[in-house]
Amino acid sequence: MRFEPVIGLEIHAQLLTQSKIFCGCSTRFGGSPNTHVCPVCLGMPGVLPVLNRDVIEFAMKMALATHCTISPYSQFARKNYFYPDLPKGYQISQYEFPLARNGWVELEMETGSRRIRIHRIHMEEDAGKLVHDEFQPVSYVDFNRTGVPLLEIVSEPDIQTPDEAAAYLRTLRDILCYLDICDGNMEEGSMRCDANISLRPVGTEGLGVKTELKNMNSFRNVQKALEFEIRRQTALLERGEPVIQETRLWDANRNVTVSMRGKEEAHDYRYFPDPDLVPIVIDSGWIEAVRASLPELPDAKRGRFVREYGLPVYDAQVLTASKALAGYFESVVGIFPQSKVVSNWIMSELMRELKRDDREIEACPVTPENLAELLQLIDKGTVSGKLAKAVFEQMYATGKCAGAIVEEKGLVQVRDESAIESVVAEVLAENPVEVEQFRAGKEKLLAFFVGQVMRKTKGKANPQLANEILLKRLSRE
Ligand SMILES: [Zn+2]
Repeated sequence: MRFEPVIGLEIHAQLLTQSKIFCGCSTRFGGSPNTHVCPVCLGMPGVLPVLNRDVIEFAMKMALATHCTISPYSQFARKNYFYPDLPKGYQISQYEFPLARNGWVELEMETGSRRIRIHRIHMEEDAGKLVHDEFQPVSYVDFNRTGVPLLEIVSEPDIQTPDEAAAYLRTLRDILCYLDICDGNMEEGSMRCDANISLRPVGTEGLGVKTELKNMNSFRNVQKALEFEIRRQTALLERGEPVIQETRLWDANRNVTVSMRGKEEAHDYRYFPDPDLVPIVIDSGWIEAVRASLPELPDAKRGRFVREYGLPVYDAQVLTASKALAGYFESVVGIFPQSKVVSNWIMSELMRELKRDDREIEACPVTPENLAELLQLIDKGTVSGKLAKAVFEQMYATGKCAGAIVEEKGLVQVRDESAIESVVAEVLAENPVEVEQFRAGKEKLLAFFVGQVMRKTKGKANPQLANEILLKRLSRE
């Protein structure tokens, strides 16, 4: 019997609001432990939470961007559990009445596009962070993160492969980043992912027993953990053994998932509506105002790049991977409108340098204006395409503009006929045997002669001119 996986993902995205969800404490990352805290986020008795309006608007943006229906009435609930990182003894989350439901995102896979439905999106507060001492049996807790707003985005179990899971995560990350509501960094924990996975015989509709996977802090780890879990569950089912419903942790050092807790140890969170927070009522006017504020999203931008600039889908996908990169491309094209040339330069030379440097496009030392200037110099024939790459490397290393480097290094292309004529004469005089062979019909040798001319001029001769002059001289006599 063959089995197929059924996968659902739960994403937690940390929202980029200035202050926490229920108090005015800063959400800034990296402060000394317990410096961004107050009685509200420390859960002192008698304090009252006040909802941050930005959190609702950020959540509404994500809901609209993923085609969800925003509920006119939603409510916060207390999720009760006892753990040292949770000072109140409960987390404020949403349960029966989430902010939004029933959305979808479209994944661009090599095999075509796939629609993954979103079950719900809700808001909640983050817990603190436990720090375990390496040398003593002591743990510390940092409450700076307590009360930082999170969005939980729960997919339907529509995902069929680990590849699709990674693509879904990337798609959500791109949307979150385009909306400027989350920095999308999985390694730093501002985007976290849990997965539910079960197997069923191919072609059947029912669902098998699922396990929940946690602790996967990169796209790669999500993919690897799912691949491992598919192999593990397949082996169990093939041996006729049951899959046990449990939570498993991904161990990235050993590349395995290990059992954390079984169903019998699962929490009963005893949810109930938070009596300190009034229900959230959202009217259509508010929804439309937020909708009007949405930026162009990755999908739409990709489509427009293909239509407006005539780019291949692949180029459009690469260039719209981040809003900043797309903006860079559009700035260059604004000055130098040969879009495919611009795309090629960004995707090869520019992105290679950025990668080598481990820099983001935001920190690129070559401004769009400078790249456009270089492309104009190539277009006008001032500098050859080959030398332009060296010029670009210099621009990247020094931040100088193309014109200055071309001048400084004497890289201006030689288009003076008499100068090339004399080099051609030298080359022909130095290679009498090849000249004979060429005249005897071995025309392939032309490339050899051009190469020699380019070498002597350190790549500065205009290749077309060199070609013409060589042909003229070689056919003579
Ligand atoms: Zn606070």
